[in-house]
Amino acid sequence: MDKQQDFVLRTIEERGVKFVRLWFTDVVGTLKSVAVAPAEIEGAFAEGVGFDGSAIEGMTRSYEADVLAQPDPSTFQILPWRGEVDPTARMFCDITTPDGEPAIADPRNVLKRTLAKAAERGFTFYTHPEIEFYLLKSSEYKDGGPQPIDNAGYFDNVSGGFGQDFRRRSVRMLEDIGISVEFSHHEAGPGQNEIDLRYADALTTADNVMTFRTVIKEVASEQGVYATFMPKPFAEHPGSGMHTHMSLFEGDVNAFYEAGAKYELSKLGRQFIAGLLHYAPEITAITNQYVNSYKRLWGGDEAPSFVTWGHNNRSALVRVPVYKPNKGQSSRIEYRAIDSAANPYLAYALLLAAGLKGIEDGLELPDEAEDNVWELTDSERKALGYRPLPTNLEQAITFMESSELVAETLGEKVFNYVLLNKRREWKAYRAQVTEFELRNNLESL
Ligand code: GLU
Ligand code: MG
Ligand code: MG
Repeated sequence: MDKQQDFVLRTIEERGVKFVRLWFTDVVGTLKSVAVAPAEIEGAFAEGVGFDGSAIEGMTRSYEADVLAQPDPSTFQILPWRGEVDPTARMFCDITTPDGEPAIADPRNVLKRTLAKAAERGFTFYTHPEIEFYLLKSSEYKDGGPQPIDNAGYFDNVSGGFGQDFRRRSVRMLEDIGISVEFSHHEAGPGQNEIDLRYADALTTADNVMTFRTVIKEVASEQGVYATFMPKPFAEHPGSGMHTHMSLFEGDVNAFYEAGAKYELSKLGRQFIAGLLHYAPEITAITNQYVNSYKRLWGGDEAPSFVTWGHNNRSALVRVPVYKPNKGQSSRIEYRAIDSAANPYLAYALLLAAGLKGIEDGLELPDEAEDNVWELTDSERKALGYRPLPTNLEQAITFMESSELVAETLGEKVFNYVLLNKRREWKAYRAQVTEFELRNNLESL
């Protein structure tokens, strides 16, 4: 038994923990939970907890039906919303086959594998997500669409406002569960909020994103409202992005930093961005995995639609934020396409893989976009070499289908499952007769 496992067992004992939830994430990014009695945890550390994997999206092939959840003791936390009496704790799990091999359909393992590849080259990958979401009066929607809880806008300080209390309560709960928050504010849409998590290694951040979604939904339900991470719930208001800031460290040194270079961005940083731009269309079916995701990407309001990079350019896909001179350790780049409904494990694995490939192949970074990319004409964009991101899920699937990078990073099983699942979604969507068609065509045709 290692030290961390020992710590978990002692804490369970000392705090009188009554339930331990074992958490893991399926391929589409839904959090799954199995509660076990504390007495089972010692055995779970030694041998894992068996369950029928065929219940889990993406783990359906019969040879993998029996799988084991192996709790990761470093993720042990007491759930603050369950209260002090008879506390409940949780640990994230790795999913393995009965003989201890990583289950190929475990997204956490996809990320771990990619991080291990980066580690072989001496890199640690850090991420920090800015998570946007809407607070609605309820999950119901009627003819007028979903009802936001307020009419405030970007950075508004709504005095006595509900959003402020909501954010305070959520940030407190996130801190209680071990997640540091850097920033929180009202976003541009009515009822839209943003909370930014402090940077951490990408596995921790991906776990934190999953926990974050649960915490926000718990706080919302406690306060009688509803939180949604749907990418674009309103046609007329901005979507909810999960812009992610990324950096690579070599030991204690930020490998994206170079004193005196343009924007203090090292050659390695430039190659990493070049990789992101090169592979962006191929990875979009993962960073933006729903039909609805494309309503955000093509709905204006500061979501990127074209494959460009820029220094502080909010119309660009990749942004190199402003730095104070000599703040080298915080050098980072921001990927702006990814949305709040992405599976963070798979998305971070692909962002890292794309960036690393850029470094490996020594890709050249094209010129930066200095103009507002949305305001250019199509032919201007073409002349400048700005490619569009996929305009809908079907296009994104088509790009992904022929991507070696995505197939290799996700592994064959996850790759095939995502394609199958997304094709199914597209087919169902394609068969819809929408409000738009009825409004425009019913009377006139
Ligand atoms: N809500 C915008 C998006 O969908 C981002 C706004 C911002 O720059 O924070 O990406
Ligand atoms: Mg924002
Ligand atoms: Mg941002």
